[in-house]
Amino acid sequence: MLNKLLGSGSYESFDMRCMVTGQFAVGKSSLVKLLVGDNVPEERRPTDGISLVEGRCGLDIETRSWIMIDPATYNALDVVYNKVLMTSVEEDESKQTKTPGKHESDAKPVDSQNKEDNRSQKSEATKSTAFPVNLSSEPSTQPPAAQSLSPQMSSGESKKQQMKKKMTTKMTKKEIRKRMEKVLKSGKYKMKVGRLIFWDFGGQYVYYTTHQTFMTFRALFLVVFDGSKRLNEEVLDVLCFPGQHMTPTPAVFLLHWVNSILTYCKVVYAGIPKILFVATHKDKIPVEDVETRRALLYSDVEELFKDHEGRDHLVLDKQIFVNATDKADQEIEALKKAITELTFDHPCWGEKMPNAWVPLELEMAELVAAGKQILSLEEVEELNAISKVSVLDLGQLQDFLHFQHSLGKIIYFDTQQLRDYVIINPLLMVEVMRSFVTDKLFWPKKKRMQIIFRRMSDSGIICRGDLYNIWEQKNFQAILPYKEFLFNILIHLDILAEQRRYDTATGSRLPVENYFVPCMVTERNTTSFMENECTPVRAICLSFVFKGTVIPPALPNRLISACLSMWTLKQYEGRKLLFSGFIVVSFDKAHDIVVCVEGNKIILYIVHKTSAGLIVPDIATGVKECLVTTMERISDFYQSTIHVKRSQKLPFHIEYSCSELKCFISEEEILQTNDWVCDEHNLTHRAGNSAVWNQEKV
Ligand code: GDP
Ligand code: MG
Repeated sequence: MLNKLLGSGSYESFDMRCMVTGQFAVGKSSLVKLLVGDNVPEERRPTDGISLVEGRCGLDIETRSWIMIDPATYNALDVVYNKVLMTSVEEDESKQTKTPGKHESDAKPVDSQNKEDNRSQKSEATKSTAFPVNLSSEPSTQPPAAQSLSPQMSSGESKKQQMKKKMTTKMTKKEIRKRMEKVLKSGKYKMKVGRLIFWDFGGQYVYYTTHQTFMTFRALFLVVFDGSKRLNEEVLDVLCFPGQHMTPTPAVFLLHWVNSILTYCKVVYAGIPKILFVATHKDKIPVEDVETRRALLYSDVEELFKDHEGRDHLVLDKQIFVNATDKADQEIEALKKAITELTFDHPCWGEKMPNAWVPLELEMAELVAAGKQILSLEEVEELNAISKVSVLDLGQLQDFLHFQHSLGKIIYFDTQQLRDYVIINPLLMVEVMRSFVTDKLFWPKKKRMQIIFRRMSDSGIICRGDLYNIWEQKNFQAILPYKEFLFNILIHLDILAEQRRYDTATGSRLPVENYFVPCMVTERNTTSFMENECTPVRAICLSFVFKGTVIPPALPNRLISACLSMWTLKQYEGRKLLFSGFIVVSFDKAHDIVVCVEGNKIILYIVHKTSAGLIVPDIATGVKECLVTTMERISDFYQSTIHVKRSQKLPFHIEYSCSELKCFISEEEILQTNDWVCDEHNLTHRAGNSAVWNQEKV
C-alpha cells in the first residue's frame, strides 16, 4: 500500500529523534541544553519522565551544518507548513518575489552575525509566504492546556456540529490550503533543513518500565555516562534492577541501556539504531590526564561489549568526553559532528513519504500545534474527508494510522477497546505515565495524593478512582476527558494489571476494584516462601534465558502484570507475594506459580501443595505456553508495524532445570539426551521432568 501511494508522488522526510539515555544525574539534560544552545542552569533540576526538546535545532540538508533555531521566532505551525511550503518547488519559487532567507523562517541561525537584520528578514519572509490569516498567532493566544481541554466527548450530535464549525473555520484558511495543494500537485519540493528532536529521558528507577514505550529504531541513541568514574566503580544510593544482586556500577547501567534499546527497537536495517556513547564530567579529571582517562574509559566500554550481540549498533570510535556544563568545550563540536554524521547515515533520514498523506498529516500537526492531543477516529475521518488533493479511502486511512504509529508520530492501537481514538501527540502518553509512575522526588505534595502514592509504592496497588483523582490535578487536566480510554491503554501496555477477586462462597469473579502497578514496587522479596515452599520436593522449574546480562526491567514487570491479570495473587504469612521482580500467584487449590527474575533469567516455578510428582502436566504445559505467548506479545509489541514481517528472533530461549532446581539444560539439548550430569552437583538428572512442560496438545 505504501508503495502504491508512493507511486502517486512522494517527498523526502528529514526528521531525527535523538534519544538521550543513561543513568540518573550523569549530565543528560545539561548536554541537551548545550546541543540546542541553551544556558545550563546552575542548580540541578532532575528530569521527571521524559522531556522533549523540539524545534530548537536542525541540520542543513545541503551543507550539513548544525542550525540553531531562535526560540523567540520558532512557531510550531511554521514547521508544519515549512515541511511543504518553505521548502518547496523551484518553479513556484521563481514566481514569487525573491525573499532572502525565505526557506529558513523557522530555522533562523541564532548565532548569525547580524541579528537585527535577520529579524527584519524574518518578518518579510513571513509576509512573502502569504499566510493571510493570523494563523501563527493562534497557538500563542490559546494556551495548549486550555485547548486540549475542549470536551470533545459530548453527545454524538453536538460533536458532529462542533466538527462542522471547526471545518468552516478551517475554510477561512483557504489561501494556505490552495497554495499548499498547488505545491503538492506540482510534486516538487525538498526540505532544506531537517529537524533534530531531543528526547531527554529521566534516569530514575521507576521509569525503566515506561521508557521503552517510546523507543524506536527510527532514532539515534546517545548513552551518557559519567567519565570521572571508572566503569566498575560502585554507584552509591541507587536501586539496582529487579533480580540483580550485583553492585550497581556505571557498567551495569551501560549494559542496561544498550540492552533496553536493542530489546525494544526492532532491527529493520542492520546495525540501526546506532548507539553513541558520551562521557561527561571531563572537568573533574586533571587536564593532563584527560587523554589517558579517555583511552581507559573507552577501552573499558569495548571490553564490556566485546561479546555483545548488539556490537554492530555501537559507535565506539568517536570516544567523546565532554564537560556537559561548559558551553565553550571544544568537544561539543565533535559531538555535534558525530550526531550529524550518524543522522545522515541513518536510512530513515530522507525517507520517502507519500504525498497523499501530507494533507492529513498537516491537519493533525496543526491541531497538535494548537494543543490538541487526542482525536476520535470519527474526527480523523472527517479531517481526511476535507482534503481536496487526496482523500484516503478507509483502508488507506487505517494504513496511514498504523504507519504513523510505527513512526512514533501518533499512538493508535487497533483493538476493539482502543480503536476509537487516536493520540496525535505521543507526548500525552509520557504525561499519562509520568502522572503516576514517577520517582518519589516528584510525588505531589497534597496529603491525599501522598497517601495514594505511598500505597501504590508499598503494595503496588491503585484503584481506578485514585488514578482519576491524580488526573484531576491541574497539570493533568488534558488527560481527564479521555480518562477511560487512557486507562485502557495502560492496561493494554501492561503498566496496569487488574487485581482478580473471587467470591469465596460461589467462586464467581467479582468486579475489579484495584489494579496493580508492578513497576512501582521496589521492595525485594524477604519472605521465606522460596526456602520453605518452593523446594525440589514440591516444585518444577524452567527459565527464559536472555542474551544480555541485564534484562530490561520492563519485561519482567509486564510479565508480572500479565500474570496478575490471569491469576490471583497469593498471600503467604499474611503478606502479598508481589515484590520487585518476584510474584507468586495461585493457579488452583493445588498449584501455585512463581515468576521471578534472577540475573539474565526469568524463572518460572510450578509448586504443588504436596509433591512435584503430582503436578498436572496439562497445567504445567498450559502455564508455560501462556507465558511464552505473553513474552512474545510483550517483545513483539513494539514491532506493530504493517510493513515489516515478524522475522526477528525472540530475545530469549528456554532451559529446563535439574530436579534440584539449580542447573539448567537447553531445550535442544534435552531432546537429545535422557540423562545428563550437571557440573555443579555432579548428579545424574533425568530429562523426564521436561515432559511435564510439553504435553501433546489435546
Ligand atoms: P541528568 O540527570 O543526566 O539529566 O543530569 P543533569 O544534566 O541534570 O546533571 C546533573 C548534575 O551534574 C547537574 O548539577 C549538572 O550541573 C552536573 N553536571 C552534568 N554534567 C557535568 C559535567 O560534565 N561536569 C560537571 N562538573 N558537572 C556536570
Ligand atoms: Mg535529566
